[in-house]
Amino acid sequence: MNRDFKALLEMAVRLHGHLCGGQVIGVRMALAGLRELGIKEPKGKEGKDLVIFVEIDRCPVDAIIAVTGRTPGRRSIKMMDYGKQAATFVDARTSKAVRVSVKADAFEKAGQVARTLTGMKDEKHAQIEALATMAEQDLLSIRRVSVAVRPQDLPGEPLETCVCQKCGEAIKDMRQVGGNGSVLCKPCAVGDCYYKEIPGDIDN
Ligand SMILES: [Zn+2]
Ligand SMILES: [Zn+2]
Repeated sequence: MNRDFKALLEMAVRLHGHLCGGQVIGVRMALAGLRELGIKEPKGKEGKDLVIFVEIDRCPVDAIIAVTGRTPGRRSIKMMDYGKQAATFVDARTSKAVRVSVKADAFEKAGQVARTLTGMKDEKHAQIEALATMAEQDLLSIRRVSVAVRPQDLPGEPLETCVCQKCGEAIKDMRQVGGNGSVLCKPCAVGDCYYKEIPGDIDN
């Protein structure tokens, strides 16, 4: 792998905590997305309007964050829980968007490349080198797409904050459900939530 790529990979590994194939794939996905949008310095002014929809909550996401400087807390990484190694890079100013996905047989092809490499420390490093250097068209599928990013999903100040009439908690960014004068947060509206409260020792 070349020096520039290695430097990006090292940055990803620092954030992610270990070197893995996912970091290599994430760096390559990010580079492809940025290239297609014509963004050379995503952490500078050029990247200000970049919003990325990631379709999996696994290793490559950290590499995409490391390379692009986008984060969920700044609303520039959107987590779509599809379980797919794919991400869509959107320039929210121009609406230009490109979806980059990992081909289903990419690992098999990387394995074939890895077996031809010599002088590798071990199998893992051969696989990583293969993922880093294999032809882009064997690893990634890249498509122009259109994404309607809603105003309430964009970075910046919340457009609106209201209070749920049932639980009394504040809701930002127009995530309330309701109509006819009722305002409810999503869990109160559907009567289901990912957690259940346990009455007990913490009571603030
Ligand atoms: Zn990993
Ligand atoms: Zn509520």
